[in-house]
Amino acid sequence: MKRIYLDHNATTPVHPEVLEAMLPFMTDQFGNGSSIHTYGREARNAIDDAREQIAVLINAKSPSEIVFTSTGTEADNYAIKGIAELQHSRNSGNHIITSSIEHHAVLHTCQYLEKHGFEVTYLPVDRYGQIQLDDLREAIRDTTILISIMHANNETGIIEPIAEVCKIAQEHRIPVHTDAVQSVGKLPVDVQALGVNMLSLSAHKIYGPKGIGALYLRRGTRLENLLHGGSHERNRRAGSENVPSIVGLGQAAALAKRKRETNLEHLNQLTNKLRKGLHERINYIHENSDPENSLPGTLNMSFEYIEGESLILRLDMEGICVSTGSACTSGSMEPSHVLAALGLPPQLAQGTVRFSLGKDNTEAEIDEVIEKVPKIVEQMRSMSPAYKRL
Ligand SMILES: *Cc1c(COP(=O)(O)O)cnc(C)c1O
Repeated sequence: MKRIYLDHNATTPVHPEVLEAMLPFMTDQFGNGSSIHTYGREARNAIDDAREQIAVLINAKSPSEIVFTSTGTEADNYAIKGIAELQHSRNSGNHIITSSIEHHAVLHTCQYLEKHGFEVTYLPVDRYGQIQLDDLREAIRDTTILISIMHANNETGIIEPIAEVCKIAQEHRIPVHTDAVQSVGKLPVDVQALGVNMLSLSAHKIYGPKGIGALYLRRGTRLENLLHGGSHERNRRAGSENVPSIVGLGQAAALAKRKRETNLEHLNQLTNKLRKGLHERINYIHENSDPENSLPGTLNMSFEYIEGESLILRLDMEGICVSTGSACTSGSMEPSHVLAALGLPPQLAQGTVRFSLGKDNTEAEIDEVIEKVPKIVEQMRSMSPAYKRL
C-alpha cells in the first residue's frame, strides 16, 4: 500500500542530496578531524564547510559560533545546564524562566535543575500556546540567569515572540536561549534579528540524518561544558566528530536555505486545503493551531467523541501516518503537557491529532486524507454512546 506520511514534526526523510554528500565520509574519507595528515584534513575541511553552511542559514556572524552536538536534545541540555552551572559557581543567581509548552528536552532539563537547587518559572500560555510578554516581565528577578523559550512548538506549531523576549531580556542583561528545532528551515531564522544568545537546531527535522544537532553560541556567551574530554569544537564539546552526520547537517542547512521560500508556499497551500476540507466535512472539531501564527505545515485538531490513539491506528491501517501530541508522549495515556497548558479539557485532549506536512506531500495525498478521515471519524463516533445521544 502507498503510504501518506504526515508526521514531519517527528522526523523527516533524508534528502537524496544529503545522503549523497554523506556517503564519501562513511567510505574513503573516514579520517578523524583531529589528525593532521591528509585524511584528517579532509574531515576537518568537511566539518568546517558544514559549520559555514549552518552559520549562513541562521545568519551567525562567524562559523565559530556553531557547536556540533549529538542531537537537538543535547543542544538544549548544553545551553541550559551550561549557563546554570556557570552562574551557580559564580553565585550570580539560580532562577530560570521557560514556558509550559517546551519540548521535553528543555522541560525535563529544567525539572532536573529544580532538584539541584535551581528555581524555575514556567510561563503560562494562551489557547494557542503563546506566552504573554507581561508574564515574562513579571517573572524576571534579580536572580534570573537564563530565559529559554522555544521559537516554534512541535505540537501546535505556535510561534513565540522571541525578538520581543530578547528585547526585554536585554534590559536586564539576561541571556536568552531558544529551541528552534522546528522553526529552522520553515521560518526565516536569523539570530541577529531575533537577538538570541543561544539557539538549538537538529538535522532530522530538516531532511538530514538523525543523531546530529548544533547549538549556536553568540560570541562572548560563557557557559560550562556538558561533555569533558578532548579539545574538539574549540574546547566546547569533547568527542571525535560524527563527520558523515555533520556533513549531512550542513547539506540539509544549505538545502533549507535554498528551498525554504518554495517549501513554505507549498506547505501553506496544502495545510489550508487540509484545514478547510476537514472543517467542511466533520462537525465537533476544534483547531489548536493558530491559523495566523503557526508553523507552515502543522495542523493540530481535536475531534470530540473520538479517542485520538484509536483514530491514529485506524488511519495507519489506511496508510495515513499522523501523530497524537508529540511522538514522545504517544503510547502513554497521559494527555500531552502542551494540550494541558492550552487549557484543553482532558476529554478533548484525548481526541487530538497532529498533522505535520512536508515538502514532498501532494495535493492528491491531501485529497485522500480529506476523504478518509471523515469516514473513519463517523464510523468511530457511531459506536460512541455519548455521540449517539446528541
Ligand atoms: C525534535 C525536537 C527536539 C529534539 O531534537 P532531537 O534531535 O530529536 O533530540 C527538541 N525540540 C523540539 C521542538 C523538537 O521538535
